[in-house]
Amino acid sequence: MTTTPAATHAAAPPVDKAALLARYIAERDKRLRPDGNAQYLQLKGRLAHYLEDPYTARVEREPKTDHVSFAFVGGGFAGLVTGARLVEAGVTDVRLIEKGGDFGGTWYWNRYPGAQCDTASMIYMPLLEETGHRPTEKYAHAPEILEQCQRIGRQYGLYDNALFHTEVEDLRWDDAGSRWVISTNRGDRFTADFIGLGTGPLHVPKLPGIPGIESFRGHSFHTSRWDYDYTGGDPRGAPMSRLADKRVAIIGTGATAVQCVPHLAAACRELFVFQRTPSSVDVRANVPIDPEWFASIATPGWQQRWLENFTANQAGGTAEEDLVQDGWTDLSRRIRSRIMQLPREDLTPQKMLAAYEDSDFEKMNEIRARVDSIVAESQTAQRLKAWYRQLCKRPCFHDAYLQAFNTPGTHLIDTDGKGVEAITETGVVVAGVEYPVDCIIYASGFEVGTEYRRRAGFDLVGRDGLRLSQAWAEGMRSLHGIHVHDFPNAFFVQPTQGANLISNVPHNLTEAGRTIALTVRHALDGGYRQVEVTKAAQDAWVALLLTGVGRMIGAPDCTPGYYNNEGQNPGPAARFNVGYPAGATAYFAYLDGWRKSGAFEGLAFR
Ligand code: NDP
Repeated sequence: MTTTPAATHAAAPPVDKAALLARYIAERDKRLRPDGNAQYLQLKGRLAHYLEDPYTARVEREPKTDHVSFAFVGGGFAGLVTGARLVEAGVTDVRLIEKGGDFGGTWYWNRYPGAQCDTASMIYMPLLEETGHRPTEKYAHAPEILEQCQRIGRQYGLYDNALFHTEVEDLRWDDAGSRWVISTNRGDRFTADFIGLGTGPLHVPKLPGIPGIESFRGHSFHTSRWDYDYTGGDPRGAPMSRLADKRVAIIGTGATAVQCVPHLAAACRELFVFQRTPSSVDVRANVPIDPEWFASIATPGWQQRWLENFTANQAGGTAEEDLVQDGWTDLSRRIRSRIMQLPREDLTPQKMLAAYEDSDFEKMNEIRARVDSIVAESQTAQRLKAWYRQLCKRPCFHDAYLQAFNTPGTHLIDTDGKGVEAITETGVVVAGVEYPVDCIIYASGFEVGTEYRRRAGFDLVGRDGLRLSQAWAEGMRSLHGIHVHDFPNAFFVQPTQGANLISNVPHNLTEAGRTIALTVRHALDGGYRQVEVTKAAQDAWVALLLTGVGRMIGAPDCTPGYYNNEGQNPGPAARFNVGYPAGATAYFAYLDGWRKSGAFEGLAFR
């Protein structure tokens, strides 16, 4: 991997915007369903077995009834980076509570063949500089990312206190004792001076509500619980030899399916890919990272420089150089270059939005043309084309997905936006035709738009018995997305109401981790028992957030998906799910200044 100056783009042919928009709307309308999120099945009762952990055996242990300085819910990136920063700040009794059997979060569960990060490893994998790990590829595969999680856990001693295969059931503030009381499904009932929450948005798998789904007599599993005993192979890419005589269905064509379909196509006797909405699949161009090149750039502070450079290129900053150079920065560069071509008097929000739209149309035309250039069978190629704006759904990047449809034995079964009609004892039905299969793999995603309480498994109980669901009944309220009034000594580690940088979520988390460690250190050094955002500071922050342009991704006119609440009106509360109006770069600079000032403005220490 090397860095070169940012590429410039040749002028693209003119785009018939009206015709494209009409097509986008027609395709969206086909997919709209009145049941929205209710179309999906929760994995409980007879479906609960889909949640079982295939990777690690559960170990019996005594319930915990002790006290720790800091308890963190979630052992993924959020918990790991916060835990690491706390340890660096001298807070060593940090307890991470994790429902999986090890650290890793997303990367613990998602071990499907081909899983890899979609944002460059150099900025996606947390704490590379601190751990001294050199990513082996521009886009690392899942086992390497899981190992990085374990490395962080080991290096910072986070395993010592961790509770795995443990789900928090109740978190309750004890004001008299200035501490949180934590209860879990393993009978634990312990206390902590401070808590952190990093449960992530995508950790509860869901199944499509297809009639007959429970009647299937073959084998089936969700992609986040890959059954290598059944398929053969392993997450490192060993061939799935046990599928050689199998007919396999995969339902869903989102980011997960895009990564695992090529591996299935190579392994199965026959593969049926059931598609409701095609993903946009742009070039991946993964390359190994050259150790010599890495040594030349890995000077002190390198990862922070890369993080800031990506964010500046991608999210509203200015940067001369583009270190990462990928699909994310390409899209932003195109938009910027169009806006810069506008005459001075045309620099109005409307014209800038039109410039944004133009570059999106152009980009999507390229992505659709790419399908034609790769997929041999023309009808299949037509059906693999995405008709929506690129950020309506999670953009995908892959150099083998479209090619997989040229493999003999791999069939695209397009449902024309309607979804699978039925599942029988022996197969999958679309448009009245049954496709008999031995195995169904559900690449059907995760719960996003459902209630926080349902996904988290608990509802935080703060000061005077106030529940988080009540505090946020009319929308999220926080300072920096981290501190919430009436919930003292609690910290949220997530992007919303902060930078809201969706293209590189870990950047949001590492910045939050820093802020939390500094705040806790300050509380401890000052002998304070409680730290809480004042109502005035929280109100002012929320008011500032609402001055922005609102959500840029997942607009209501987009094709349905989890980005836009399945095309249903998300209600007035959703307008609070935004980031800092001036953009991610400005937010990180602001937060850095907030930390450096040492004033902890907006927080009350008691
Ligand atoms: P998604 O929610 O993106 O995809 C689910 C798929 O199932 C969609 O194609 C959906 O179609 C389809 N589906 C749902 N119901 C039916 C039905 N009744 N019939 C047929 N198809 C159906 O889940 P993924 O697991 O793919 O991805 C979730 C997210 O996880 C991504 O958006 C991304 O944020 C993250 N991810 C990141 C990766 C990375 O960074 N490397 C890799 C993989 C995932 P429709 O689109 O019409 O709803």
